Amino acid sequence: MAEQLTKILVIEDEPSQLELLAYNLNVEGYHVLKAETGEEGLLLLKEHQVEMVVLDWMLPDISGIEICRQIRANKSTINLPIIMLTARGEEEDKIKGLNIGANDYVVKPYSIKELLARIRANLRINKNLSTPEVMSFESIRIDIARHTVSYNGLNISLGPIEYKLLYFLMTAPRQVFSRKQLLDRVWESHTEIETRTVDVHIGRLRKSLKKVSNKNLIRTIRGFGYSLDNVG
Ligand code: CA
Repeated sequence: MAEQLTKILVIEDEPSQLELLAYNLNVEGYHVLKAETGEEGLLLLKEHQVEMVVLDWMLPDISGIEICRQIRANKSTINLPIIMLTARGEEEDKIKGLNIGANDYVVKPYSIKELLARIRANLRINKNLSTPEVMSFESIRIDIARHTVSYNGLNISLGPIEYKLLYFLMTAPRQVFSRKQLLDRVWESHTEIETRTVDVHIGRLRKSLKKVSNKNLIRTIRGFGYSLDNVG
């Protein structure tokens, strides 16, 4: 049997954009399910097991935000990666989209290349990079088998939470994660934990990295979250 293709659901009411996107995703080797309305999209989600949703914000029937909420409210799709497409470029809308549970956000008119890169990155995060042996970014290196972190060969000692935080951030360098996303991924049961805790551990991680590298390697997006980056 042929290898199973990764299924992606695209919900986009603009037929020409839907076709263009579906065409490009097919070329990349994805199996594409197409929906022109929110209702159609939700129906397809019930019938098929998809691995990613590319979701237009402005739809004629149900808004992208509402679809996102419904996907997150359903146990079987609670962790399904969602990339929102939107004409809105306002920071506030971006935060709203991410807060409601979208994993990523692309502003129209978007470049297909960028969207494809984000799809790949988000699929990779979800598969936890199929556990590679070593991960690296800007001279930071995590040896997963040995559970050690180094910078230019110099050992960095990290607490267990800081290690998990760094590991998670390294699955997608430069991608911004909300504090809520970090809580969900790094602290498995976190009902008692506040987002403030994320700030504390990010602070420790940043300090440990800085001690060895002399660089700030974590970017803060005020009031929102963090990304692994070379801030300088
Ligand atoms: Ca639209």
